[in-house]
Amino acid sequence: MTVEALTEEQPLVSARRQLSEAAQYLSLDEGLHAMLAHPRREMTVGVPLRHDGGHVTVFTGHRVQHNLSRGPAKGGIRFAPTVNLDEVRALAMWMTWKCALIDLPYGGAKGGVTIDPRLHSRAELERVTRRYTSELAGFIGPERDIPAPDIGTDEQTMAWMMDTISVARGYTVPGVVTGKPLHIGGSRGRADATSIGVARVGLAALENAGIAADGGTAAVQGFGKVGAGTARFFSEAGMRVVGVSDQYAALYSERGIDIAALQEYVGRHGSVAGFTGADEIEHDDLLELDVDLLAPCAVEGVITAHNAESIRARIIVEGANGPTTPDADLILKDKGIDVVPDILANSGGVVVSYFEWVQANQAYWWTANRVESRLVERMLAGWALIRDESVRTGRTLRESATAIAVHRVAEAHKVRGLYP
Ligand code: GLU
Repeated sequence: MTVEALTEEQPLVSARRQLSEAAQYLSLDEGLHAMLAHPRREMTVGVPLRHDGGHVTVFTGHRVQHNLSRGPAKGGIRFAPTVNLDEVRALAMWMTWKCALIDLPYGGAKGGVTIDPRLHSRAELERVTRRYTSELAGFIGPERDIPAPDIGTDEQTMAWMMDTISVARGYTVPGVVTGKPLHIGGSRGRADATSIGVARVGLAALENAGIAADGGTAAVQGFGKVGAGTARFFSEAGMRVVGVSDQYAALYSERGIDIAALQEYVGRHGSVAGFTGADEIEHDDLLELDVDLLAPCAVEGVITAHNAESIRARIIVEGANGPTTPDADLILKDKGIDVVPDILANSGGVVVSYFEWVQANQAYWWTANRVESRLVERMLAGWALIRDESVRTGRTLRESATAIAVHRVAEAHKVRGLYP
């Protein structure tokens, strides 16, 4: 990657700047800062695919284990045409902070294949997944590194990954991935876990600001695994969800969009485009709507120095990883807009992934109520932790969250010592 290409929007630039800010605040020594800025292990693999038509092309896949000081690596697998090693490195670093902040016994990892899954048949996706998994076979495992779904992957992808590892080892290894289907050791409540978490901390932040959820307004960017559920939970809490979008269209309705009807529509058409219960607006305008809660639930780098000045939301709750750049954070801080950071806001997914791994390791399955109540308990404790720290120090919620997480990882590293 050329130096010119490293712009403010690049996730690795954001992730490293956030780390530097925390390292300075915590007075970490330079060596420790450098260790935390660099991934522990990286693996890049060629993934040859025999297409349904018979010809072969080769995709590139990565798995980055950013840090292992607090336990095995944990993080999702992304299938998207934009996946590149620097993006995976940033996402892996954010997983380290996320797991530390919510106090899971994990380090952070991320993986991805540079592929557009929408252009491939189910059979092709199965072959890509199995080949990528088999290339990673020596690198992942319940005690080493535990993948999960992310953008472009789902519970079926996890089932293929688990099966590939299990067949190779000769016995079933349910703890090797999380986000699996229920029949093979998935956890109740995993599918909605990220959105429940985003919604619960978003609502808690609203309450903290003295804004009533009932009758309040929200806009949600992204209508996939995270955004659709988040919009639904906001509307179930009495909010008017006036704006939603996916990569094809953005919608607005002053009266509030009927989220259940929209979900049903998306189930049939694959996109929010063409839904008649709202007006179509420009994509860029969605983020600039005058709402109480704005939830970016799509990809990184969408709130930047270019549009932060125009953001009118009272509170931002980050369902996506890395949607706000550090330059945008500075502008939002000046404007008095609170940002509930990704490493807390979207951690519900990895929290229930952890519950799934614990259940798989014990071969003992919890009820849906037990999963949800433990999830909500952890999310609200995480929210209280960063809010109190932010009040105490006068630093933003993100600065507070990152400093707490980096401190925990640094302490784990220090007490274990540097080998050799
Ligand atoms: N991909 C999700 C994330 O970014 C979930 C990771 C996991 O469950 O391990 O947090």
